[in-house]
Amino acid sequence: MAQMFINGQWADAQSGETHEVINPANGTVVDSVPKGGVEDVDAAVASAQNAFAAWADTSPDDRAAMLRKGIELVKEQSKEIAALLTAEQGKPLFEAGGEVHHFLHGMEFYAGLSSKIRGVQSPLPPALGKHAYGIIMRRPVGIAAGIVPWNFPLTLMGTKVGPALIAGCPIIIKPASTTPLATLKIIGLLNEAGLPAGVLNCVTGPGSTVGERLITHPVIRRVALTGSSETGKRVMAQAGPAFKRITLELGGSDPMIVCPDANIKNAVSGAIIGRYWNAGQACLAVKRLYLFEEIYDELMDGLLKKVGNYQPGDGTTKPEKPFIRMGPLHTAYQREEVENQLQDAVAKGAKVLIGGKRTEGTDLAKGHYFQPAVVVDVPEDSKLMTEEVFGPVLPVWKVSSLDEAIQKANNSPWGLGSSIWTQNMSWANRAIRELDSGMTWVNQIHYGYDELPFGGVKASGIGHEHGPEAVDYYLENKSAVFGGLDWE
Ligand code: NAD
Repeated sequence: MAQMFINGQWADAQSGETHEVINPANGTVVDSVPKGGVEDVDAAVASAQNAFAAWADTSPDDRAAMLRKGIELVKEQSKEIAALLTAEQGKPLFEAGGEVHHFLHGMEFYAGLSSKIRGVQSPLPPALGKHAYGIIMRRPVGIAAGIVPWNFPLTLMGTKVGPALIAGCPIIIKPASTTPLATLKIIGLLNEAGLPAGVLNCVTGPGSTVGERLITHPVIRRVALTGSSETGKRVMAQAGPAFKRITLELGGSDPMIVCPDANIKNAVSGAIIGRYWNAGQACLAVKRLYLFEEIYDELMDGLLKKVGNYQPGDGTTKPEKPFIRMGPLHTAYQREEVENQLQDAVAKGAKVLIGGKRTEGTDLAKGHYFQPAVVVDVPEDSKLMTEEVFGPVLPVWKVSSLDEAIQKANNSPWGLGSSIWTQNMSWANRAIRELDSGMTWVNQIHYGYDELPFGGVKASGIGHEHGPEAVDYYLENKSAVFGGLDWE
Protein backbone atom coordinates (compact mmCIF):
# COMPACT_ATOMS: atom_id res chain seq x y z
CA MET A 1 0.00 0.00 0.00
CA ALA A 2 1.20 3.52 -0.82
CA GLN A 3 1.56 6.08 1.97
CA MET A 4 1.32 9.84 2.07
CA PHE A 5 4.26 12.08 2.89
CA ILE A 6 4.17 14.30 5.98
CA ASN A 7 7.04 15.94 7.86
CA GLY A 8 9.77 14.09 5.97
CA GLN A 9 8.20 10.66 6.47
CA TRP A 10 5.84 8.24 4.83
CA ALA A 11 2.59 8.11 6.78
CA ASP A 12 -0.76 6.33 6.96
CA ALA A 13 -3.97 8.25 7.63
CA GLN A 14 -4.43 8.75 11.38
CA SER A 15 -7.86 7.17 11.00
CA GLY A 16 -6.27 4.11 9.37
CA GLU A 17 -8.70 4.46 6.46
CA THR A 18 -7.61 3.75 2.90
CA HIS A 19 -9.09 3.88 -0.56
CA GLU A 20 -8.33 2.00 -3.74
CA VAL A 21 -6.89 3.48 -6.92
CA ILE A 22 -8.53 1.84 -9.94
CA ASN A 23 -7.03 1.37 -13.40
CA PRO A 24 -9.45 3.05 -15.88
CA ALA A 25 -8.31 0.65 -18.62
CA ASN A 26 -9.56 -2.53 -16.96
CA GLY A 27 -11.07 -1.86 -13.54
CA THR A 28 -8.27 -3.61 -11.60
CA VAL A 29 -6.90 -2.18 -8.35
CA VAL A 30 -3.53 -0.49 -8.95
CA ASP A 31 -2.84 0.15 -5.27
CA SER A 32 -4.40 1.61 -2.13
CA VAL A 33 -3.62 4.97 -0.55
CA PRO A 34 -4.44 6.50 2.82
CA LYS A 35 -7.78 8.29 2.95
CA GLY A 36 -6.47 11.30 4.80
CA GLY A 37 -8.61 13.55 6.98
CA VAL A 38 -8.56 16.90 8.75
CA GLU A 39 -6.09 15.64 11.38
CA ASP A 40 -3.59 14.62 8.68
CA VAL A 41 -3.83 18.05 7.07
CA ASP A 42 -3.24 19.63 10.47
CA ALA A 43 -0.12 17.50 10.98
CA ALA A 44 1.21 18.47 7.53
CA VAL A 45 0.52 22.17 8.15
CA ALA A 46 2.26 22.03 11.55
CA SER A 47 5.34 20.44 9.97
CA ALA A 48 5.36 23.05 7.20
CA GLN A 49 5.10 25.80 9.80
CA ASN A 50 8.08 24.37 11.69
CA ALA A 51 10.10 24.24 8.48
CA PHE A 52 9.15 27.71 7.22
CA ALA A 53 11.71 30.02 8.87
CA ALA A 54 14.70 27.88 7.96
CA TRP A 55 13.49 27.31 4.39
CA ALA A 56 12.87 31.06 3.91
CA ASP A 57 16.47 31.61 5.08
CA THR A 58 17.98 28.95 2.83
CA SER A 59 19.96 30.54 0.01
CA PRO A 60 18.46 30.47 -3.48
CA ASP A 61 21.45 28.47 -4.73
CA ASP A 62 21.00 25.84 -2.04
CA ARG A 63 17.28 25.59 -2.80
CA ALA A 64 18.07 25.16 -6.50
CA ALA A 65 20.72 22.52 -5.79
CA MET A 66 18.19 20.42 -3.85
CA LEU A 67 15.64 20.76 -6.64
CA ARG A 68 18.23 19.75 -9.24
CA LYS A 69 19.19 16.67 -7.26
CA GLY A 70 15.50 15.77 -7.00
CA ILE A 71 15.10 16.28 -10.76
CA GLU A 72 17.94 13.79 -11.37
CA LEU A 73 16.33 11.20 -9.09
CA VAL A 74 13.01 11.57 -10.91
CA LYS A 75 14.77 11.31 -14.30
CA GLU A 76 16.36 8.01 -13.28
CA GLN A 77 12.93 6.57 -12.54
CA SER A 78 10.97 8.32 -15.26
CA LYS A 79 9.95 5.08 -17.01
CA GLU A 80 8.52 3.55 -13.83
CA ILE A 81 6.75 6.81 -12.99
CA ALA A 82 5.21 7.03 -16.48
CA ALA A 83 3.98 3.43 -16.16
CA LEU A 84 2.38 4.25 -12.80
CA LEU A 85 0.71 7.31 -14.33
CA THR A 86 -0.72 5.22 -17.17
CA ALA A 87 -2.02 2.65 -14.70
CA GLU A 88 -3.84 5.18 -12.50
CA GLN A 89 -4.88 7.78 -15.10
CA GLY A 90 -5.39 5.76 -18.28
CA LYS A 91 -3.36 7.85 -20.74
CA PRO A 92 -1.15 5.94 -23.22
CA LEU A 93 2.45 5.33 -22.15
CA PHE A 94 3.90 7.78 -24.67
CA GLU A 95 1.62 10.52 -23.35
CA ALA A 96 2.55 9.63 -19.76
CA GLY A 97 6.25 9.78 -20.71
CA GLY A 98 5.58 13.20 -22.25
CA GLU A 99 3.98 14.38 -19.04
CA VAL A 100 6.95 13.28 -16.92
CA HIS A 101 9.24 15.08 -19.36
CA HIS A 102 7.10 18.24 -19.17
CA PHE A 103 7.15 18.06 -15.36
CA LEU A 104 10.96 17.81 -15.36
CA HIS A 105 11.30 20.68 -17.83
CA GLY A 106 9.14 22.88 -15.60
CA MET A 107 11.11 21.99 -12.48
CA GLU A 108 14.38 22.77 -14.27
CA PHE A 109 12.92 26.12 -15.31
CA TYR A 110 12.19 27.00 -11.67
CA ALA A 111 15.49 25.65 -10.35
CA GLY A 112 17.20 28.01 -12.82
CA LEU A 113 15.02 30.91 -11.74
CA SER A 114 15.75 30.46 -8.03
CA SER A 115 18.70 32.88 -7.91
CA LYS A 116 17.08 35.39 -10.27
CA ILE A 117 14.24 36.60 -8.06
CA ARG A 118 14.87 40.30 -7.50
CA GLY A 119 13.34 43.25 -5.76
CA VAL A 120 13.46 46.91 -6.78
CA GLN A 121 15.38 50.07 -5.85
CA SER A 122 13.61 53.36 -6.51
CA PRO A 123 14.77 56.98 -5.99
CA LEU A 124 12.35 59.08 -3.88
CA PRO A 125 11.52 62.82 -4.06
CA PRO A 126 14.21 64.99 -2.36
CA ALA A 127 11.63 66.50 0.02
CA LEU A 128 12.31 63.48 2.22
CA GLY A 129 16.05 64.03 2.15
CA LYS A 130 18.54 64.13 -0.65
CA HIS A 131 19.40 60.69 -2.02
CA ALA A 132 16.53 59.04 -0.18
CA TYR A 133 15.41 55.85 -1.82
CA GLY A 134 12.99 53.04 -1.37
CA ILE A 135 13.36 49.34 -1.93
CA ILE A 136 10.88 46.57 -2.53
CA MET A 137 12.00 43.34 -1.04
CA ARG A 138 10.39 40.02 -1.85
CA ARG A 139 9.42 37.80 1.06
CA PRO A 140 7.87 34.33 0.96
CA VAL A 141 4.18 34.60 1.64
CA GLY A 142 3.98 31.61 4.01
CA ILE A 143 2.65 28.07 3.88
CA ALA A 144 1.06 27.11 0.56
CA ALA A 145 -1.48 24.49 -0.49
CA GLY A 146 -1.55 23.07 -4.01
CA ILE A 147 -4.73 21.23 -5.09
CA VAL A 148 -4.33 19.20 -8.26
CA PRO A 149 -6.79 17.51 -10.69
CA TRP A 150 -6.52 14.07 -12.26
CA ASN A 151 -6.02 14.97 -15.94
CA PHE A 152 -2.35 16.06 -15.75
CA PRO A 153 -1.45 15.15 -12.17
CA LEU A 154 2.31 15.59 -12.53
CA THR A 155 2.72 18.75 -14.59
CA LEU A 156 0.03 20.52 -12.55
CA MET A 157 1.73 19.46 -9.31
CA GLY A 158 5.05 20.81 -10.68
CA THR A 159 3.52 24.20 -11.55
CA LYS A 160 2.84 24.60 -7.83
CA VAL A 161 5.84 22.90 -6.22
CA GLY A 162 8.50 24.61 -8.37
CA PRO A 163 7.46 28.25 -7.76
CA ALA A 164 6.60 27.63 -4.08
CA LEU A 165 9.93 26.07 -3.20
CA ILE A 166 12.13 28.65 -4.94
CA ALA A 167 10.10 31.47 -3.33
CA GLY A 168 10.85 29.98 0.11
CA CYS A 169 7.36 28.66 0.85
CA PRO A 170 6.76 25.15 2.19
CA ILE A 171 3.88 23.51 0.34
CA ILE A 172 1.31 20.77 0.91
CA ILE A 173 0.07 19.01 -2.21
CA LYS A 174 -3.32 17.34 -2.45
CA PRO A 175 -3.62 15.17 -5.54
CA ALA A 176 -6.98 14.08 -6.95
CA SER A 177 -8.26 10.98 -5.14
CA THR A 178 -8.00 8.92 -8.33
CA THR A 179 -4.41 9.88 -9.27
CA PRO A 180 -2.19 10.03 -6.17
CA LEU A 181 0.37 7.32 -6.97
CA ALA A 182 2.85 8.85 -9.45
CA THR A 183 2.60 12.10 -7.46
CA LEU A 184 3.58 10.36 -4.20
CA LYS A 185 6.48 8.65 -5.94
CA ILE A 186 7.83 12.00 -7.16
CA ILE A 187 7.27 13.76 -3.84
CA GLY A 188 9.23 10.99 -2.12
CA LEU A 189 12.13 11.41 -4.58
CA LEU A 190 12.20 15.22 -4.26
CA ASN A 191 12.39 14.79 -0.48
CA GLU A 192 15.09 12.12 -0.79
CA ALA A 193 17.19 14.78 -2.54
CA GLY A 194 17.60 16.59 0.79
CA LEU A 195 14.60 18.86 1.32
CA PRO A 196 14.23 19.54 5.06
CA ALA A 197 11.29 17.75 6.72
CA GLY A 198 8.02 19.65 6.31
CA VAL A 199 9.02 21.67 3.21
CA LEU A 200 7.19 19.42 0.75
CA ASN A 201 4.26 17.33 2.00
CA CYS A 202 1.54 15.36 0.27
CA VAL A 203 -1.80 14.52 1.88
CA THR A 204 -4.11 12.18 -0.02
CA GLY A 205 -7.88 12.12 0.42
CA PRO A 206 -11.16 13.65 -0.72
CA GLY A 207 -11.57 17.27 -1.79
CA SER A 208 -14.51 17.68 0.59
CA THR A 209 -12.36 16.98 3.67
CA VAL A 210 -8.63 17.22 2.91
CA GLY A 211 -9.12 19.91 0.24
CA GLU A 212 -11.49 22.00 2.33
CA ARG A 213 -9.31 21.82 5.44
CA LEU A 214 -6.33 22.96 3.39
CA ILE A 215 -8.13 25.99 2.00
CA THR A 216 -9.68 26.99 5.33
CA HIS A 217 -6.73 26.22 7.66
CA PRO A 218 -5.76 29.59 9.20
CA VAL A 219 -2.02 28.99 8.76
CA ILE A 220 -2.26 28.45 4.99
CA ARG A 221 -1.64 31.80 3.25
CA ARG A 222 -1.59 30.70 -0.36
CA VAL A 223 -3.98 28.39 -2.22
CA ALA A 224 -3.32 27.23 -5.79
CA LEU A 225 -6.17 25.21 -7.29
CA THR A 226 -6.34 23.59 -10.67
CA GLY A 227 -9.77 22.08 -11.15
CA SER A 228 -13.27 22.65 -12.40
CA SER A 229 -15.00 26.03 -12.34
CA GLU A 230 -17.49 24.65 -9.75
CA THR A 231 -14.66 23.76 -7.36
CA GLY A 232 -13.09 27.13 -8.10
CA LYS A 233 -16.22 28.92 -6.87
CA ARG A 234 -16.13 26.96 -3.65
CA VAL A 235 -12.45 27.60 -3.05
CA MET A 236 -12.93 31.31 -3.72
CA ALA A 237 -15.87 31.47 -1.30
CA GLN A 238 -14.02 29.66 1.45
CA ALA A 239 -10.48 30.99 1.14
CA GLY A 240 -11.39 34.54 0.02
CA PRO A 241 -12.75 35.84 3.34
CA ALA A 242 -9.44 34.99 5.03
CA PHE A 243 -7.60 37.11 2.40
CA LYS A 244 -5.52 34.20 1.18
CA ARG A 245 -3.55 34.45 -2.01
CA ILE A 246 -5.65 32.44 -4.44
CA THR A 247 -5.05 31.34 -8.00
CA LEU A 248 -7.73 29.36 -9.79
CA GLU A 249 -6.82 27.48 -12.96
CA LEU A 250 -10.23 26.26 -14.06
CA GLY A 251 -12.13 24.84 -16.98
CA GLY A 252 -12.13 25.99 -20.57
CA SER A 253 -13.92 25.71 -23.89
CA ASP A 254 -11.17 26.81 -26.25
CA PRO A 255 -12.19 27.89 -29.76
CA MET A 256 -9.95 27.22 -32.76
CA ILE A 257 -10.50 29.36 -35.88
CA VAL A 258 -9.20 28.20 -39.26
CA CYS A 259 -9.07 30.92 -41.95
CA PRO A 260 -9.13 30.47 -45.75
CA ASP A 261 -5.36 30.98 -46.10
CA ALA A 262 -4.33 28.53 -43.35
CA ASN A 263 -1.95 25.64 -43.86
CA ILE A 264 -4.61 22.93 -43.73
CA LYS A 265 -2.30 20.02 -42.93
CA ASN A 266 -0.95 21.84 -39.89
CA ALA A 267 -4.43 22.95 -38.85
CA VAL A 268 -5.67 19.34 -38.99
CA SER A 269 -2.78 18.27 -36.73
CA GLY A 270 -3.55 21.18 -34.42
CA ALA A 271 -7.20 20.13 -34.15
CA ILE A 272 -6.33 16.45 -33.69
CA ILE A 273 -3.73 16.94 -30.96
CA GLY A 274 -5.68 19.85 -29.52
CA ARG A 275 -8.91 17.90 -29.10
CA TYR A 276 -7.94 14.25 -28.69
CA TRP A 277 -4.71 14.32 -26.60
CA ASN A 278 -5.38 12.71 -23.20
CA ALA A 279 -8.70 11.45 -24.66
CA GLY A 280 -9.89 15.06 -24.77
CA GLN A 281 -9.50 15.53 -21.02
CA ALA A 282 -7.51 18.75 -21.08
CA CYS A 283 -8.39 22.22 -19.86
CA LEU A 284 -6.86 23.86 -22.94
CA ALA A 285 -8.23 21.31 -25.40
CA VAL A 286 -9.79 22.56 -28.63
CA LYS A 287 -13.44 22.24 -27.63
CA ARG A 288 -15.01 24.25 -30.49
CA LEU A 289 -13.78 24.37 -34.08
CA TYR A 290 -14.76 27.27 -36.40
CA LEU A 291 -13.92 26.73 -40.08
CA PHE A 292 -14.20 29.30 -42.86
CA GLU A 293 -16.49 27.93 -45.56
CA GLU A 294 -13.70 28.12 -48.19
CA ILE A 295 -11.60 25.43 -46.46
CA TYR A 296 -14.40 23.55 -44.70
CA ASP A 297 -14.52 20.49 -46.98
CA GLU A 298 -10.75 20.04 -47.25
CA LEU A 299 -10.19 20.38 -43.53
CA MET A 300 -13.08 18.08 -42.59
CA ASP A 301 -11.78 15.47 -44.99
CA GLY A 302 -8.34 15.44 -43.32
CA LEU A 303 -9.85 15.62 -39.85
CA LEU A 304 -12.23 12.68 -40.29
CA LYS A 305 -9.49 10.49 -41.78
CA LYS A 306 -7.26 11.10 -38.78
CA VAL A 307 -10.03 10.69 -36.22
CA GLY A 308 -10.81 7.35 -37.89
CA ASN A 309 -7.26 6.25 -37.09
CA TYR A 310 -7.77 6.41 -33.35
CA GLN A 311 -8.01 3.05 -31.70
CA PRO A 312 -9.19 3.25 -28.10
CA GLY A 313 -7.44 0.66 -25.97
CA ASP A 314 -5.18 -0.05 -23.01
CA GLY A 315 -2.51 2.65 -22.82
CA THR A 316 0.22 0.07 -22.22
CA THR A 317 -0.23 -1.35 -25.73
CA LYS A 318 0.34 0.19 -29.18
CA PRO A 319 -1.69 -0.42 -32.33
CA GLU A 320 -0.05 -0.97 -35.73
CA LYS A 321 0.52 2.15 -37.84
CA PRO A 322 -1.35 4.20 -39.01
CA PHE A 323 -3.58 3.60 -35.99
CA ILE A 324 -3.08 5.74 -32.90
CA ARG A 325 -3.78 4.73 -29.34
CA MET A 326 -6.34 6.61 -27.28
CA GLY A 327 -6.67 5.56 -23.65
CA PRO A 328 -9.97 5.13 -21.80
CA LEU A 329 -11.80 8.04 -20.23
CA HIS A 330 -10.68 8.43 -16.66
CA THR A 331 -13.86 7.32 -14.88
CA ALA A 332 -17.30 5.87 -15.63
CA TYR A 333 -18.79 9.24 -14.63
CA GLN A 334 -16.57 11.07 -17.09
CA ARG A 335 -17.75 8.88 -19.97
CA GLU A 336 -21.42 9.23 -18.99
CA GLU A 337 -21.10 12.99 -18.86
CA VAL A 338 -19.66 13.16 -22.39
CA GLU A 339 -22.36 10.77 -23.62
CA ASN A 340 -25.07 12.97 -22.09
CA GLN A 341 -23.65 16.09 -23.69
CA LEU A 342 -23.52 14.38 -27.07
CA GLN A 343 -27.06 12.99 -26.73
CA ASP A 344 -28.35 16.43 -25.81
CA ALA A 345 -26.84 17.91 -29.01
CA VAL A 346 -28.22 15.09 -31.18
CA ALA A 347 -31.68 15.53 -29.64
CA LYS A 348 -31.49 19.20 -30.66
CA GLY A 349 -30.55 18.38 -34.27
CA ALA A 350 -26.76 17.79 -34.32
CA LYS A 351 -25.25 15.14 -36.63
CA VAL A 352 -22.44 12.83 -35.52
CA LEU A 353 -20.07 12.31 -38.48
CA ILE A 354 -17.82 9.75 -36.80
CA GLY A 355 -17.48 7.96 -33.44
CA GLY A 356 -19.46 8.91 -30.36
CA LYS A 357 -20.10 5.40 -29.07
CA ARG A 358 -18.61 3.19 -26.40
CA THR A 359 -15.86 0.90 -27.66
CA GLU A 360 -16.97 -2.61 -26.87
CA GLY A 361 -15.15 -5.93 -27.09
CA THR A 362 -14.17 -8.59 -24.60
CA ASP A 363 -10.83 -6.97 -23.71
CA LEU A 364 -12.35 -3.52 -23.45
CA ALA A 365 -15.59 -4.15 -21.58
CA LYS A 366 -14.09 -3.22 -18.20
CA GLY A 367 -12.55 0.08 -19.30
CA HIS A 368 -14.24 3.41 -19.97
CA TYR A 369 -13.49 3.45 -23.70
CA PHE A 370 -15.18 5.85 -26.09
CA GLN A 371 -14.85 6.34 -29.86
CA PRO A 372 -13.65 9.89 -30.59
CA ALA A 373 -16.32 11.91 -32.34
CA VAL A 374 -16.79 14.85 -34.72
CA VAL A 375 -20.20 16.58 -34.66
CA VAL A 376 -21.79 19.21 -36.89
CA ASP A 377 -25.02 21.24 -36.90
CA VAL A 378 -24.68 21.73 -33.15
CA PRO A 379 -27.20 24.31 -31.84
CA GLU A 380 -25.68 27.09 -29.76
CA ASP A 381 -27.92 26.23 -26.81
CA SER A 382 -26.76 22.62 -26.59
CA LYS A 383 -24.56 21.33 -23.79
CA LEU A 384 -21.65 20.85 -26.21
CA MET A 385 -21.59 24.63 -26.38
CA THR A 386 -22.71 25.71 -22.91
CA GLU A 387 -20.81 23.14 -20.80
CA GLU A 388 -17.16 22.14 -20.70
CA VAL A 389 -16.77 18.98 -22.80
CA PHE A 390 -14.11 16.92 -21.08
CA GLY A 391 -13.77 14.08 -23.57
CA PRO A 392 -13.02 13.30 -27.23
CA VAL A 393 -15.97 15.04 -28.91
CA LEU A 394 -15.36 17.92 -31.32
CA PRO A 395 -18.22 20.17 -32.48
CA VAL A 396 -17.49 22.01 -35.75
CA TRP A 397 -19.16 25.11 -37.17
CA LYS A 398 -18.86 26.91 -40.52
CA VAL A 399 -18.19 30.66 -40.49
CA SER A 400 -18.01 33.20 -43.29
CA SER A 401 -16.06 36.11 -41.79
CA LEU A 402 -13.54 36.90 -39.08
CA ASP A 403 -16.17 39.03 -37.32
CA GLU A 404 -18.50 36.06 -37.14
CA ALA A 405 -15.69 33.71 -35.99
CA ILE A 406 -14.59 36.03 -33.19
CA GLN A 407 -18.15 36.72 -32.08
CA LYS A 408 -18.93 32.99 -31.90
CA ALA A 409 -15.61 32.16 -30.26
CA ASN A 410 -16.27 34.73 -27.53
CA ASN A 411 -19.80 33.47 -26.93
CA SER A 412 -18.77 31.20 -24.06
CA PRO A 413 -18.66 31.41 -20.28
CA TRP A 414 -14.99 30.40 -20.44
CA GLY A 415 -11.85 32.18 -21.59
CA LEU A 416 -8.84 29.94 -21.16
CA GLY A 417 -7.16 29.55 -24.55
CA SER A 418 -7.97 30.17 -28.22
CA SER A 419 -6.20 29.77 -31.53
CA ILE A 420 -6.26 31.21 -35.02
CA TRP A 421 -4.75 29.55 -38.07
CA THR A 422 -3.89 32.07 -40.80
CA GLN A 423 -0.95 33.61 -42.69
CA ASN A 424 -2.61 37.02 -42.48
CA MET A 425 -0.77 39.09 -39.85
CA SER A 426 -3.52 41.62 -39.40
CA TRP A 427 -6.10 38.88 -38.83
CA ALA A 428 -3.76 37.20 -36.34
CA ASN A 429 -3.29 40.51 -34.56
CA ARG A 430 -7.02 41.10 -34.40
CA ALA A 431 -7.57 37.64 -32.94
CA ILE A 432 -4.90 38.21 -30.30
CA ARG A 433 -6.49 41.51 -29.35
CA GLU A 434 -10.15 40.53 -29.51
CA LEU A 435 -10.44 36.90 -28.42
CA ASP A 436 -11.44 36.82 -24.75
CA SER A 437 -8.92 34.31 -23.43
CA GLY A 438 -5.77 34.18 -21.36
CA MET A 439 -3.73 32.81 -24.26
CA THR A 440 -4.02 32.87 -28.08
CA TRP A 441 -1.91 30.54 -30.19
CA VAL A 442 -1.27 31.54 -33.81
CA ASN A 443 -0.71 28.54 -36.10
CA GLN A 444 0.26 26.59 -33.01
CA ILE A 445 -1.06 23.65 -31.01
CA HIS A 446 -2.79 24.52 -27.72
CA TYR A 447 -0.12 23.86 -25.09
CA GLY A 448 1.01 25.33 -21.77
CA TYR A 449 4.63 26.43 -22.03
CA ASP A 450 6.73 26.51 -18.87
CA GLU A 451 8.22 29.83 -19.96
CA LEU A 452 4.99 31.81 -20.41
CA PRO A 453 2.35 32.68 -17.82
CA PHE A 454 -0.83 30.70 -18.39
CA GLY A 455 -4.23 31.43 -16.89
CA GLY A 456 -7.76 32.15 -17.94
CA VAL A 457 -10.32 34.92 -17.89
CA LYS A 458 -14.08 34.73 -17.15
CA ALA A 459 -15.05 31.31 -15.70
CA SER A 460 -11.58 29.95 -16.51
CA GLY A 461 -10.19 31.47 -13.35
CA ILE A 462 -7.93 34.00 -11.76
CA GLY A 463 -4.16 34.38 -11.84
CA HIS A 464 -1.39 32.52 -13.59
CA GLU A 465 0.78 29.46 -13.40
CA HIS A 466 3.93 28.85 -15.47
CA GLY A 467 6.58 31.42 -16.25
CA PRO A 468 8.46 33.65 -13.80
CA GLU A 469 5.08 35.32 -13.05
CA ALA A 470 3.91 32.20 -11.19
CA VAL A 471 6.50 32.85 -8.48
CA ASP A 472 4.93 36.24 -7.67
CA TYR A 473 1.94 34.53 -6.09
CA TYR A 474 4.24 32.95 -3.49
CA LEU A 475 5.97 36.23 -2.66
CA GLU A 476 4.82 39.37 -0.93
CA ASN A 477 6.33 42.73 -1.72
CA LYS A 478 7.57 44.65 1.27
CA SER A 479 8.49 48.28 0.72
CA ALA A 480 11.12 49.98 2.85
CA VAL A 481 12.44 53.55 2.78
CA PHE A 482 16.00 54.61 3.44
CA GLY A 483 15.80 58.28 4.40
CA GLY A 484 17.94 60.80 6.24
CA LEU A 485 21.13 59.85 4.49
CA ASP A 486 21.91 63.40 3.48
CA TRP A 487 19.73 65.99 5.29
CA GLU A 488 21.45 69.31 4.51
P1 NAD B 1 -12.20 18.96 -9.64
O1 NAD B 1 -12.50 20.40 -9.45
O2 NAD B 1 -13.27 17.99 -9.41
O3 NAD B 1 -11.00 18.53 -8.68
C1 NAD B 1 -9.75 19.20 -8.67
C2 NAD B 1 -9.10 19.02 -7.30
O4 NAD B 1 -9.86 19.76 -6.34
C3 NAD B 1 -9.08 17.58 -6.79
O5 NAD B 1 -7.87 17.35 -6.09
C4 NAD B 1 -10.27 17.54 -5.85
O6 NAD B 1 -10.16 16.54 -4.86
C5 NAD B 1 -10.20 18.93 -5.25
N1 NAD B 1 -11.46 19.41 -4.68
C6 NAD B 1 -12.72 19.10 -5.07
N2 NAD B 1 -13.61 19.75 -4.30
C7 NAD B 1 -12.91 20.50 -3.43
C8 NAD B 1 -13.27 21.40 -2.40
N3 NAD B 1 -14.54 21.66 -2.10
N4 NAD B 1 -12.28 22.02 -1.71
C9 NAD B 1 -10.99 21.80 -2.03
N5 NAD B 1 -10.59 20.93 -2.97
C10 NAD B 1 -11.54 20.29 -3.68
O7 NAD B 1 -11.57 18.84 -11.10
P2 NAD B 1 -11.14 17.52 -11.88
O8 NAD B 1 -12.36 16.83 -12.38
O9 NAD B 1 -10.15 16.74 -11.05
O10 NAD B 1 -10.31 18.15 -13.10
C11 NAD B 1 -10.88 18.54 -14.29
C12 NAD B 1 -11.12 20.05 -14.30
O11 NAD B 1 -9.89 20.75 -14.10
C13 NAD B 1 -11.63 20.52 -15.65
O12 NAD B 1 -12.64 21.47 -15.47
C14 NAD B 1 -10.40 21.13 -16.29
O13 NAD B 1 -10.66 22.06 -17.31
C15 NAD B 1 -9.72 21.75 -15.11
N6 NAD B 1 -8.31 22.00 -15.42
C16 NAD B 1 -7.87 23.29 -15.54
C17 NAD B 1 -6.54 23.55 -15.89
C18 NAD B 1 -6.03 24.95 -16.07
O14 NAD B 1 -4.81 25.15 -16.09
N7 NAD B 1 -6.88 25.95 -16.21
C19 NAD B 1 -5.66 22.47 -16.08
C20 NAD B 1 -6.16 21.17 -15.94
C21 NAD B 1 -7.48 20.96 -15.59
